[in-house]
Amino acid sequence: MAEPTNRQWLLAARPQGMIKESDFRWNESVVPLLKDGQILVRNLAFSFDPTQRGWMSMDTYIPAIPVGQVMLAIAVGEVVESKRADIAKGDLVQGLFGWEEYTVTDGQGLFGMQKLPPGTDPLLALSLLGVTGLTAYFGTLKVGQVKAGDTFVVSGAAGATGSIAGMIAKIKGCRVIGIAGGREKCDWLTKLAGYDAAVDYKNENVGDALKRDCPKGIDVYFDNVGGEILDHALAQLADGARIVLCGAISQYNQAGMGAGPKNYLNLILHRSRMEGFLVFQFAQRYPEAIAELSKWYAEGEIKNQIDLARGLENAPKTIIRLFTGANFGKQLLQLG
Ligand code: NAP
Repeated sequence: MAEPTNRQWLLAARPQGMIKESDFRWNESVVPLLKDGQILVRNLAFSFDPTQRGWMSMDTYIPAIPVGQVMLAIAVGEVVESKRADIAKGDLVQGLFGWEEYTVTDGQGLFGMQKLPPGTDPLLALSLLGVTGLTAYFGTLKVGQVKAGDTFVVSGAAGATGSIAGMIAKIKGCRVIGIAGGREKCDWLTKLAGYDAAVDYKNENVGDALKRDCPKGIDVYFDNVGGEILDHALAQLADGARIVLCGAISQYNQAGMGAGPKNYLNLILHRSRMEGFLVFQFAQRYPEAIAELSKWYAEGEIKNQIDLARGLENAPKTIIRLFTGANFGKQLLQLG
């Protein structure tokens, strides 16, 4: 086939503080010819993830994106050409692709590449059944080890990972308290997502609110934001608490690794455990998680809140939404 023109966003600069639109540069190029073992994917939808801020800045669990190279994103696309025996034209695939219309890939690397069943909804595959849904699942059940009767607190509660984590804890019989920014998000948590209480960290004192809503202390704290909110949770632990370190978005725009917690001595006083994890460590178990999440979704026990942007040209504006709290649920962008 004639090589199509590829429209794409390159990383133009390592971000200083908040990501800026000028950290990216628009580019048009010709899609390279495929080598053996590669496929050509036409991207359909991108996932937006706070961890992309790290990929833009430094080596993390993947090497930093080189300045001048295409910005990376977890994406779903349709195969338009294949030089791999196991993948055919027309297949739907998910993997670490780029902010571009067409990606050439061999599907290797930490994220691998998954062939999706025909007819899969790309938006569902990138949200509840994608990285953030799986993170919520394993963080809540395997790292947090929730059990009925636990008081479960989650920050970033109206976001992609947090909202699903709280709903899973609710299914397991926990009392669930979400921390989120703004009245609208807090109302959604208590009125639609089934949470028992919500704390609006932008308009109330989080320490006082956690004392009010968790009178017997916190058994599981699922942390998506770090910083002061983590410290408030550490001040309110029950004995034997589990603190699930999923992420620390309040620290991602700081230089270096960000600030550590002040109240960590409470881990000793309350014989508690604080554990970080990366969802990839559970990769062997994704199929069982996807099956259970799909069942809960079909039965209406989990709501999949999606915040959808459209158009490749809007990718830089869209990633910034994660850091201003503009997104409500899973931030995605659909192409075309
Ligand atoms: P998300 O929660 O959908 O979006 C980010 C949310 O963070 C925003 O909507 C905003 O909500 C909140 N936020 C932004 N700046 C904040 C600040 N300074 N203080 C408090 N809250 C702030 O994003 P996500 O993809 O689900 O990611 C959530 C967390 O999980 C991130 O820390 C991410 O790195 C982590 N994560 C970890 C893994 C893993 O394997 N460990 C995998 C996926 C994601 P408000 O309006 O409520 O402020």
